[in-house]
Amino acid sequence: MVEPGPPGSSGGDSHDGKTRGIKGYFRKRHVYVMGSTMLLFSTVYVWYTSNGTESKVAYITRLMYTKPQILKPSRSDVLTMTPWFAPIVWEGTYNSEILNEQFQRRNVTVGLTMFAIKKYVVFLKKFLETAEMYFMVGHRVNYYIFTDRPEEVPKVALKEGRNVVVLQVQNYPRWQEISMRRMELISNFSQQRFINEVSYLVCVDVDMRFNDQVGVEILSNLFGTLHPGFYAAERQSFTYERRPASQAYVPSDEGDFYYAGGFFGGTVMEVYMLTKKCHEAMMVDKANGIEAIWHDESHLNKYFVYYKPTKILSPEYLWDDNMGRPEILKKRRFLALPKNHAAIRNK
Ligand code: UDP
Ligand code: MN
Repeated sequence: MVEPGPPGSSGGDSHDGKTRGIKGYFRKRHVYVMGSTMLLFSTVYVWYTSNGTESKVAYITRLMYTKPQILKPSRSDVLTMTPWFAPIVWEGTYNSEILNEQFQRRNVTVGLTMFAIKKYVVFLKKFLETAEMYFMVGHRVNYYIFTDRPEEVPKVALKEGRNVVVLQVQNYPRWQEISMRRMELISNFSQQRFINEVSYLVCVDVDMRFNDQVGVEILSNLFGTLHPGFYAAERQSFTYERRPASQAYVPSDEGDFYYAGGFFGGTVMEVYMLTKKCHEAMMVDKANGIEAIWHDESHLNKYFVYYKPTKILSPEYLWDDNMGRPEILKKRRFLALPKNHAAIRNK
């Protein structure tokens, strides 16, 4: 890998290419500076024959960055690992250059699903423009936009390797139902389409803007995001569904965290299983004449109690400035936009 130097790389040959009549191995060293914390070296070993011809025989790649320190944890002010050994992603706990290099090797494509039904199409422009600046920069991305108003999807300039896919779907009169039906649509499209097009799905609310990097550090088999209103709360304060008649019921002495309905994901297979199960549970509730207190979010929370996420995103990944700016929050990567509920919902 890494044969040609990337444009602007500070590389060059340390050898002038002449053999001075000697036959044997010579090294040509290329140095690519990848960022502030990592160097990627690619050394080419060249065999020079006595008649002056040369043939490349080997590439050695070296990754150089500051070594992790077992006795110096990167964050000591927040939990960075769950009791089931899922990492909790906070600024300072990872090196994005190492991660980017690893995911680029696998040529991963990420699907970002969003719903813009009825009036919510107004959020698409800022959402997409900021996603182009901050979401999975340098990786392949498909934006899957579910909407009932395809003609109102704005044209936004996209960088190479990034595509918009508009998926026309029906609307529902109640905003709660629009929110809940996302589970049904994501599960159907995962099985029919996403499985053939992307490795991972990231499923988010659309009334949001990106404000800082959201990259491959979030990717894992199954991930959820700590809700900005409850990351420091006790179990009893979590707004899980507490009525045993609902399929989303979580008893008061169970559960780990309160997760946000507006940001979850994983491999297509894991997201398919999650969304299918949540949709089926909502259909049972509907037949029984009950709707969970926080709709799809309640069902997501129930699912995560029993199918633990393999990675958890800190509230950096779904912040709301109404919650202030606590000291532990080093970045605000994805921000809820203020919205006038009366003007935007059920319109
Ligand atoms: N949504 C939509 N049209 C609607 C209502 C909701 O497209 O009329 C989608 C949209 O993607 C939105 C998500 O459902 O981000 C969740 O609803 P909302 O953001 O209003 O919920 P909140 O974040 O306020 O709990
Ligand atoms: Mn929202």
